[in-house]
Amino acid sequence: AIDGTQTREWLDRFAESVYATQAELTALDQQAGDGDFGTNLAAGVRAARRLLDTEEGRSGPAGALGALASAFLDEIGGTSGPLFGLLFQALSRAAGPGPGLRTGALAEGAAEGLAAIRRVGDAAPGDKTLVDALAPAAEALRAAGGAPPAEALASAADGAWLGVRETASLSARMGRASYLGERATGVPDPGAVGIALFFASSAGTVH
Ligand code: ADP
Ligand code: MG
Ligand code: MG
Repeated sequence: AIDGTQTREWLDRFAESVYATQAELTALDQQAGDGDFGTNLAAGVRAARRLLDTEEGRSGPAGALGALASAFLDEIGGTSGPLFGLLFQALSRAAGPGPGLRTGALAEGAAEGLAAIRRVGDAAPGDKTLVDALAPAAEALRAAGGAPPAEALASAADGAWLGVRETASLSARMGRASYLGERATGVPDPGAVGIALFFASSAGTVH
């Protein structure tokens, strides 16, 4: 199972990969949206790390994921802030109070997060949103069954990246990108890239 230290390392790696791709994420959102996605995602991970460094009682996997949830839900605007927040909140809840995060809890959290995001955002797979990366990631976690979490998260990352590639061939039906219609075709959805970065950042950090 993934312990609290590993979850924090996963979060730190996610933050580093967001900072490293911030300009590209912004460029994607400039082509299909309003150009603030890189800033929003970077502000979210920065706020989460600050919460973990300054607030007591945020321990274990649920604590680290809960800090991400609070940061994105309470501090980050845009469409993506609350939606990423819902995913992290569901993962934190599924992790529960225990010291170890298992594949089953990851699968449950991702499925619940996806359901919450779809309830709030009303996007279906194929609408060129982060749902196109999260749906295959959640499905990969479910299919992983009793596999070790590192292996399950690696399949989730693979599924998410395939979803990202699919978003490039879609025209958006939801969010700002939908105002562009066909003009956004060929550009991957930045929110989907953010989801893939999250799962991919588990590589080497969780065991
Ligand atoms: P905003 O459009 O408010 O500036 P952001 O730039 O922070 O929001 O986030 C844009 C991302 O949000 C998109 O790339 C897409 O993945 C996601 N998104 C937008 N609308 C929806 C929706 N209805 N459901 C799911 N995800 C959405
Ligand atoms: Mg935007
Ligand atoms: Mg915006």
